[in-house]
Amino acid sequence: MTHAASSSLHIAIIGAGPAGLFAAEQLGKQGHQVHIYDHMARPGRKFLMAGRSGLNLTHNEPFKGFISRYAAASTWLEPALTAFPPTALRHWAEELGHECFVGSSGKVFLKDYKASPLLRSWLQRLQGLSVQFHPRHRLKALNGLELTFQTPRGEQTHKAVAIILALGGSSWARLGSDGQWAQLLSEHCASFAPSNCGFMPDWPMEFLTRHEGATLRGVSLTYAGQTKRGDLIITPRGIEGAPLYALSPLLREKLTTEHATLTLNLRPTLSIEQITARLAQQRLRESRSNKLRKAFKLDKPARELLNLLAPEARTVSELTSAITALPLTLTAPAALDRAISTAGGVRQTSLNDAYMFHHQPGLFACGEMLDWEAPTGGYLLQGCFSTAYVCAKGVHHWLSASLPGKIES
Ligand SMILES: Cc1cc2nc3c(=O)[nH]c(=O)nc-3n(C[C@H](O)[C@H](O)[C@H](O)COP(=O)(O)OP(=O)(O)OC[C@H]3O[C@@H](n4cnc5c(N)ncnc54)[C@H](O)[C@@H]3O)c2cc1C
Repeated sequence: MTHAASSSLHIAIIGAGPAGLFAAEQLGKQGHQVHIYDHMARPGRKFLMAGRSGLNLTHNEPFKGFISRYAAASTWLEPALTAFPPTALRHWAEELGHECFVGSSGKVFLKDYKASPLLRSWLQRLQGLSVQFHPRHRLKALNGLELTFQTPRGEQTHKAVAIILALGGSSWARLGSDGQWAQLLSEHCASFAPSNCGFMPDWPMEFLTRHEGATLRGVSLTYAGQTKRGDLIITPRGIEGAPLYALSPLLREKLTTEHATLTLNLRPTLSIEQITARLAQQRLRESRSNKLRKAFKLDKPARELLNLLAPEARTVSELTSAITALPLTLTAPAALDRAISTAGGVRQTSLNDAYMFHHQPGLFACGEMLDWEAPTGGYLLQGCFSTAYVCAKGVHHWLSASLPGKIES
């Protein structure tokens, strides 16, 4: 992408995350003049972070189940997820030269895992479409279709024929997504809340720091009739991991008024009978810790957690209940800024079906800044790409109708 001043007939996209970049690509392909603005020096900072532990682009599960992951927002997002489904996203990455594969859990990953090679190819494609990038432009004010930016050269105002806001959520501010934009649209926004976040248990701080970085592998958590399996990671800020992320909307709500107690099963793949039988096989004189290590391969953090939460369990039946049903009490969600994603943002009621604001024709929004949430597993990026796709189509149709003949398309 080149850096240049904008002409008045351009489409302005604010936010160079995956949603903004994808909307730019769609509009660039239609021949529109597109300028992207971002307050960071480089595009796609959070996207690159998402790729640090293996970019999980989307998910391969059957479409009905897939849609249901968007929970309260599934009806709202269904048209977008249908218009640009997981297969289309996978095809898009492969067409850019980055093969994908489906992991054992159905998650779709890039074969080379990282986001940076994909982002490089993507930016090259955008350059070929003459999309222009304006780094270090912080959106400060919106007045109709006029935008005011704070830039290193002072305040600048640009008028656009249409605007797409793709400003992200409100976590990982150091990567650009600081949520400050919500002040510009306060009457259209639900407040931000952490989603896919860690939680603070009522364990001594000393336990958390001593086991920092340890993983409780293959455990399950049950809360309010829902059981989620996966790994839990211990950090100085509490515990996190896929099972907690998946339960985060329910837990977040409960924790606004009181503590939440979940049931932790350290060996969910074994039946009660299997656990009892394995314990019964252990020598009576063996220490409790040795029995747990030998019978279940429980490593030190898991054994010490059992000591902490069920210090009295000694008999086969007491140990069986401790292994399969440890009470895990959470006291608070982790800080918003550390959440993988955020709930809240622009409400559905403020937008039409193409994500254009009712109060300002020509002003659109897409990506994580909309008020939806979904678990990890590729659903987040898929939601961003799909809403950006529909948004770009909406801009094209709106411009064709409102400026016939003026817009090259
Ligand atoms: C550690 C981590 C791992 C993740 N892993 C995955 C994963 O594997 N799979 C998955 O599906 N999702 C994952 N996600 C989530 C995913 O990265 C986000 O959902 C996605 O990046 C959101 O895209 P977006 O374009 O809507 O917003 P963002 O990527 O947040 O981009 C918003 C852009 O807007 C810019 N901006 C904000 N305010 C202003 C302003 N006032 N003026 C100008 N510019 C502004 C920001 O600088 C930023 O570039 C992960 C997130 C994290 C933090």
